[in-house]
Amino acid sequence: MKDAFGREIRYLRVSVTDRCNLRCRYCMPAAGVPDKGHGNILSFERIAEIVAAATELGVSKVRLTGGEPLVRRGIVDLVRTLAAPGTLRDLAMTTNGTLLADLARPLKDAGLMRLNISLDSLDPDTYRAVTRGGDLALAKRGLRAALDCGFPVKLNAVLQRGVNEREIPDLVDLTRDLPVELRFIELMPMNGDCAGDAFLPGSAVLDAVPALRPLEGDGKARRFALPGAAGTVGLIEPASRPFCAACDRLRLTADGKLKPCLLDSREIPLEGLHGDELTAALRDAILAKPAAHGALSFTGQSPAGRPMNRIGG
Ligand code: SAM
Ligand code: SF4
Repeated sequence: MKDAFGREIRYLRVSVTDRCNLRCRYCMPAAGVPDKGHGNILSFERIAEIVAAATELGVSKVRLTGGEPLVRRGIVDLVRTLAAPGTLRDLAMTTNGTLLADLARPLKDAGLMRLNISLDSLDPDTYRAVTRGGDLALAKRGLRAALDCGFPVKLNAVLQRGVNEREIPDLVDLTRDLPVELRFIELMPMNGDCAGDAFLPGSAVLDAVPALRPLEGDGKARRFALPGAAGTVGLIEPASRPFCAACDRLRLTADGKLKPCLLDSREIPLEGLHGDELTAALRDAILAKPAAHGALSFTGQSPAGRPMNRIGG
């Protein structure tokens, strides 16, 4: 179905939990998820019902995210349930990868098609600092397992001035041998404990690695590659090059609200809605998509109304 600005909405991001085993500074409050956030998490049956209704309206791509989707018990069963009807052209997941070593194969067998793995740093101390305690070795093991299982993999690295800025060339070097798309993401103000002076524009990647050659973009990311490399490099630049005109997505939060736009506080509750009423709420959310998000500012409230772990990145 098309939104009010003629954009075909094909993509639903489903957050399966607000919880996470890491505490990235730009995403989660240091104290983690408040207790009252644990209550109304959608059941797998309810997620499947909402995905089926969205499919009827033309959604053909679903990404499971969170929080950390792999901390939700039974996640492999949810993947199997969503894959079973065969109506999804794409079923993907975004994960920090730290629990992936044991789960990559079961996820693949259950029907998961693609993985995005977050990896901001190749230095164990920097990784630990950014994630507030994470173990880089676990994330690397998860990445290895994903590649060994044959998953197409994208790596997500949030650009942070003075944190992973000096590692940009090392991160890009990963693409020489690994068949991955490494995507540098501009930092967004999402209520995490991350100040605006950490913002680094996507263009910093091109300054740091002049050997990158442009490829055709995909409407959302500018894309590049090193000559002869196995992988590619993408720039996701919501602040300096907003890609709203190509936005084709809706978000479903773990507590059952539709978010028409990541960077807008509007939410449409689905509680108690089934059948035609559920379809109508999905239509409302599609038609409520703004033409574009406002300018991003690190001062004052986040435009999103929730921290990232409570939306689903
Ligand atoms: N836990 C999983 C992970 O880290 O990949 C999935 C959820 S996480 C919210 C999804 C993506 O959002 C991650 O790649 C993360 O780096 C990104 N993200 C979180 N907060 C962000 C922020 N403030 N600005 C830009 N990207 C952010
Ligand atoms: Fe957890 Fe992902 Fe947020 Fe990091 S970015 S705290 S791994 S949900």
